[in-house]
Amino acid sequence: METIVLKFGGTSVGSTDRISAVANLIHAASSEAFPVVVVSAMSGETNRLIDLAQSFGAEPNKREFDALISTGEKVSASLVAIALNHLGLKAKSLSAAQVGMKTTAQFSKAKILEMDNEIIFQTIKDGYIPIVTGFQGITDTGDITTMGRGGSDTTAVAIAASIKSKRCDIYTDVDGIYTTDPRIAPDAKKLDSICMEEMLELSGQGAKVIQIRAVEFANKYKVLVRVLSSFKPGSGTLILHEENGMEDAVITGIASQTDQTKVTLHGVADTPGIASGILSPISDAGIDVDVIVQNVSVSNKTDFTFTVATHDRAEVETVLKEKMHGILYDELIIEEAIGKVSLVGVGMRSHAGIASTAFNALADAGINIQMISTSEIKITIVIAETQLEEAVRILHKAFNLGD
Ligand code: ADP
Ligand code: ASP
Ligand code: MG
Repeated sequence: METIVLKFGGTSVGSTDRISAVANLIHAASSEAFPVVVVSAMSGETNRLIDLAQSFGAEPNKREFDALISTGEKVSASLVAIALNHLGLKAKSLSAAQVGMKTTAQFSKAKILEMDNEIIFQTIKDGYIPIVTGFQGITDTGDITTMGRGGSDTTAVAIAASIKSKRCDIYTDVDGIYTTDPRIAPDAKKLDSICMEEMLELSGQGAKVIQIRAVEFANKYKVLVRVLSSFKPGSGTLILHEENGMEDAVITGIASQTDQTKVTLHGVADTPGIASGILSPISDAGIDVDVIVQNVSVSNKTDFTFTVATHDRAEVETVLKEKMHGILYDELIIEEAIGKVSLVGVGMRSHAGIASTAFNALADAGINIQMISTSEIKITIVIAETQLEEAVRILHKAFNLGD
C-alpha cells in the first residue's frame, strides 16, 4: 500500500478557513498515494495551554502539563476530519493512544520508541483517511507525553518511516527551507534542495522550520522529506540523502537560537575526568549541552563553560549542586540572554578562511564574540542575545546568501 504523509503545522490549521484549504490539499494528494495526515494544534493554542498550565505556579506537575498541552492537537485533528467529511471524504482522527505512539516517559521531551502500523493500515483499508495528532505520545503505563516544541514534525517523519511512505510532506507557512529565517533576513533565498548533513546542523542549531528529531528520523530511516507551503502552490525544498554534487556555495544556511544560557564553572581543579564529571550527570538528566569550552589551566585550575537552553537552567543548577560528586570549583556563573548564530555548509570542508570572514564581519559591526565552536561543516558563535538578529543579517550579507 503506497502512502504519503502530509503534516500541517499550526498556521496551516490556524482557522476554519485554513482547515478547509488543508482538506483540499489532502484531497489533491490522494491521487498520488493514500494520504496519512499529521496535524499540529491551531496556531497559538499550545502557547495558550502552556500559559494556562502555569496559572498556579511556574512548575506545574509534569504529567498533567503534558496531558494539558497535548490537547490542541486533538481539536485540529477532529476539525480536519470534519472538513474532509464535508468534501465527501471519509476521515478518522486518531490520538497517540489510538495509534500506539509509544514514547519514553520523559515528559515534554519524550522520544518515540515504536508505533502500531496496523491501526493506520486498517483505517485506510476501511476507506478512511487517518488524521493523527502530532506532538503527543503515550508511555507504557498509559500516560500522555509530548515531544518538545515543534514535535509534530517528528510524529510525521516517524510515521512515514514506520509505514514506509513514499514521502513526508511538511506543510508550513513558508514555501520551503531558506538560507536563513526569512523573518530575520527578508532577502533570504529559498533552496530547492538541501543535503541531510546540512539540515541536521541547521535544525540542531535552531532553524525551527523542521524539528531536529524529525531530521534525525529522516536520516536514520532514509525518509524522503519535503518542506512546502500550505498557503501557496510550489515544489518546496527537498532534503536530499545524497550530497548535491553541483553544490558550489561555501555556506548553505545560517541558523540562530535565542533563549540560551551560558554556564561557567570558574576555578575547577584541572584533573582527568572533569568534563565527564560535569557533563555526564547533565546528560543523564536528559538535558542537551551545546557549545563547550575549557580554558587553559592556570596553577591547575581552569574555567569550564557550556551552553544549555534557558528552560533547562533550573534543572542544570540542581544537577550541578547535587549530583556532581567530587568536582570542586570556586564559583558557578550563570549568564542568560546569550544567543547562538551558526554558519552551515558542506562547502566549508574545501574552503579556508570562512571563520575569519565571519569574525571580521562581526567585528566591523561591533559585535563581541563570547564563544566559538567549529565542526567540519559548521561554525557556531555565541554572542549577546540582543545582537543576534543583527548578526544573522550581517553574516548573511557577508557570505552573499541573499537575493
Ligand atoms: P509550523 O507551525 O508549520 O510547524 P514553524 O513556525 O514551526 O511552522 O516553522 C516555520 C517557521 O520557521 C517559518 O515561518 C520561519 O520563520 C522559521 N524558519 C527558521 N529558519 C528557517 C529557514 N532556514 N527556512 C525557512 N523558515 C525558517
Ligand atoms: N503544537 C506543538 C507546538 O506548538 C507541536 C507542533 O506545532 O509541532 O510546539
Ligand atoms: Mg513547527
